[in-house]
Amino acid sequence: MNNTVNKEEYWHWTEALRVGLCEIDNDHKVIFQLINKTHLLIQKDPESDILYSLLDEVIEYTESHFKREEAIMLASKYPFSENHFALHERFVCQLDQKFDQVKSKQYSMTDFLIFLKDWFVEHIKETDHRIPPYTVGYEADIENELKKIGALSIKQHCKVYLVDDDEGYLELMHDMSNAAGFSSYCFSSGIYFLQTPITNNDLVILDLNMPEKDGIEVMRDLADKKISPTFILVSGFDERVLHSAKQLAESRNLRVAEILCKPIETEEFIDVLTKVHAECNLASIIEKQTENPKSNLQINKNAITVEELKLAFAENQLIVYFQPQIRFDNKQVVGAEVLVRWQHPKRGLVFPDQFIPLAEQHHLMGELTEIVILESIKAYKQFIQADIEINLSVNLSSQNINDLALPEKLGSLLKSHNIAPESFILELTESEILTDTSAALDILNRLRMKGFSLSIDDFGTGDSSLKKLYQSPFSELKIDQHFVKRIEKDTEATAIVKICILLAEEFKLQTVAEGIETQAIWDKLKAIGCKIAQGYFIARPMPAEDLIAFCNKNKLS
Ligand code: C2E
Ligand code: CA
Ligand code: CA
Repeated sequence: MNNTVNKEEYWHWTEALRVGLCEIDNDHKVIFQLINKTHLLIQKDPESDILYSLLDEVIEYTESHFKREEAIMLASKYPFSENHFALHERFVCQLDQKFDQVKSKQYSMTDFLIFLKDWFVEHIKETDHRIPPYTVGYEADIENELKKIGALSIKQHCKVYLVDDDEGYLELMHDMSNAAGFSSYCFSSGIYFLQTPITNNDLVILDLNMPEKDGIEVMRDLADKKISPTFILVSGFDERVLHSAKQLAESRNLRVAEILCKPIETEEFIDVLTKVHAECNLASIIEKQTENPKSNLQINKNAITVEELKLAFAENQLIVYFQPQIRFDNKQVVGAEVLVRWQHPKRGLVFPDQFIPLAEQHHLMGELTEIVILESIKAYKQFIQADIEINLSVNLSSQNINDLALPEKLGSLLKSHNIAPESFILELTESEILTDTSAALDILNRLRMKGFSLSIDDFGTGDSSLKKLYQSPFSELKIDQHFVKRIEKDTEATAIVKICILLAEEFKLQTVAEGIETQAIWDKLKAIGCKIAQGYFIARPMPAEDLIAFCNKNKLS
């Protein structure tokens, strides 16, 4: 299942790389920390946009470090500085070129990091270690020069503010931020915090319950001043208070990226801070990019147009991936969720969250779904030929259930390909199905009567009433990822998942948990009685051929 080789040890700075001059050693440590952080994120989420921002950061750190090292060489009259400078210059050029290749998907991010890390290891061992002996006697000059240049830093796109009246906690969060490689500004009072010049690009880690001015008042004051930084909310109350504070903030157009319950674990804090900080950084890079179109940083997300999307439909650029679903009890593959992708000739593989909203906005979901279903039928036949009998789950949008003729169209389409509708599960989210329109109910019932299975997607996030659930003809309930991911640590998420499973049993629905990322989450869901599993821990979405190989391997094991 999860058989990635653990290469972590190769990514860390090690004592063997020490050259003996603390300024250089510390710089190197930071760079290796950053490489490691980026590498970990690639393993976790290789498609994350944040990665571009992180790679950009690595390059900026590298250049900033070279400047400091060159100042040390000059101050200590190091005799080989010219050669050394030339090495730096050549390397920066190579990095820029390779980064361009990464952006145009000709070079992988992992290869980029390996290249960077290998270069540093080699350079430190072969070249940097020669510098320290020449610095003896020039310590004061070096200190002076370094002061002029400043600490190893990149242009700080995003400042980190910590606001908590509990000074002990404030110090702890400060230390944890340091460990994550960020310098932060601490405030033990909301009033003082509001006197600092905060910008929309900043990140505020805000405690909710503080005397004088509490976290909610702080957010309200900022919203009134039309300042909207990104927040991570922290509280000693239970998660529900944090959630409702989040909703409140969002109603004022403030962005709450994460919520953290006290006590906060170091690892979780560092993970969340790294992720959100990189997101803020990316947002401000994109902003700068729009201000300054000459900048060569290409972020795919920016400019997808509806014309481009229509062309994609016409030129068959949409493809589908399949994410396997396996049974908890015997690990057999029983189905796969069909997930659309856009194989763009220039942008590379584009993910649905980047074009489905656009398709919805322009009423193109009917066409998109048709393409997805035709591709699914093609793949289904390939699976049958390979002796693999599984169900396919296709996502529908609310625009699809406006079309009263959908049940007939879908039914006859499958019939013309000799496929039983029973092999197709149609997924709809709670909010899509549970509208008050009787047309939706009409369509759903007729789909069911034709033999299709219906699945409620992202269950637990909408506001369903039991009555509506009872009226709608579902056969499957998919528990939302949000709860599944939190089940390990959060007792309320666990309670919600348990209730979903009980509810499903009472309504005779199949239960699917999606977003399973770890063994621990798998174990817990299995113990609670969930039936079917989907998530990165089992497998990521993949092309049809890979799914065949996956199923064959699974049969043997
Ligand atoms: P969804 O229906 O909730 O699909 C599950 C999403 O979660 C997929 O993202 C899947 O790759 C991702 N996922 C699965 N397991 C894990 C996990 O363990 N961890 C994490 N972090 N993510 C996991 P994807 O493919 O990017 O799709 C995003 C959304 O786009 C889908 O969410 C669905 O709402 C929509 N979508 C995708 N394909 C179609 C389609 O053909 N038609 C329609 N209407 N919507 C689609
Ligand atoms: Ca789905
Ligand atoms: Ca879902």
